[in-house]
Amino acid sequence: MRIVVLAGGIGGARFLRGLKAAAPEAEITVIGNTGDDIHLFGLKVCPDLDTVMYTLGGGIHEEQGWGRADETFVVKEELAAYGVGPEWFGLGDRDFATHIVRTQMIGAGYPLSAVTEALCARWQPGVRLIPMSDDRVETHVVIDAPDDGGRKAVHFQEYWVRLHASVPAHAILPVGAEQAKPAPGVLEAIGEADVILFPPSNPVVSIGTILAVPGIREAIADAGVPVVGLSPIVGDAPVRGMADKVLAAVGVEATAAAVAEHYGSGLLDGWLVDTVDAAAVERVESAGIRCRAVPLLMSDVDAAAQMARTALELARETAS
Ligand code: GDP
Ligand code: CA
Repeated sequence: MRIVVLAGGIGGARFLRGLKAAAPEAEITVIGNTGDDIHLFGLKVCPDLDTVMYTLGGGIHEEQGWGRADETFVVKEELAAYGVGPEWFGLGDRDFATHIVRTQMIGAGYPLSAVTEALCARWQPGVRLIPMSDDRVETHVVIDAPDDGGRKAVHFQEYWVRLHASVPAHAILPVGAEQAKPAPGVLEAIGEADVILFPPSNPVVSIGTILAVPGIREAIADAGVPVVGLSPIVGDAPVRGMADKVLAAVGVEATAAAVAEHYGSGLLDGWLVDTVDAAAVERVESAGIRCRAVPLLMSDVDAAAQMARTALELARETAS
């Protein structure tokens, strides 16, 4: 079975770990979000690709959900001693090595997709991890600029990591997406998939950004295979992160049903909501999307694997 998964960072990575356990024989291709990518200290940092790679490769800081286990921060301290910021983005020493290798390879002319493959040769994530595009796409968030009474756009990482999503987001701009091309292998993997899954990743700044690369949304809609998603919203709130804030910015309420409707029946065949949102099933089904309520908290790998099994079952149901 060939499975394609569109993934952001933590939600995507934890789901993928469950999916691998649930379907050990499957050939899994992950299309990773690169809208969170940022250039820091002269280095190209790809937070979502790395979260997937480290989580599946056994190098993740478990509790945090991002960054490396057993991390130290000597380089960060030394940079701070030089007064070189930003100080709000915490890159650890082990993590720095990944960004150095990536930046060096890009400087030598390799596309991000080839670089990601090279990094994965070390981590052996057990999936094929492809960035959504080799072209630069950067998600920006429009916020108030109180100093001049207007508004300004800041990098998504500044909105989330520096400002903790504590100010209203007025719009989400995937800068560069319109001109970006899907990376080599992305459309082919979608075309050859038996099933396509949307893990409980952020519907706006993770999956939404991937879908904003011209050709990807269309390829999924036209693939003619079941597309099943899992809600990142449980009990009318994100399990973690700022999905409620960025959903508001695109005019979508933070509920499991509204996120399903936002993707729409043109894209989704099936949708899983948490048992606490069982009342949403009827609304999702009346939007033409088959829906079931099951536990959706990825408290451990077994719980994530059970979610993956149910998603694959729902995919089979929608196909019959
Ligand atoms: P990010 O790039 O690290 O923000 O990660 P993703 O975009 O992949 O996933 C973020 C989303 O995952 C957030 O909206 C969370 O609500 C959701 N999420 C995290 N853990 C869980 C979980 O255990 N269950 C569900 N249903 N959603 C989760
Ligand atoms: Ca992310």
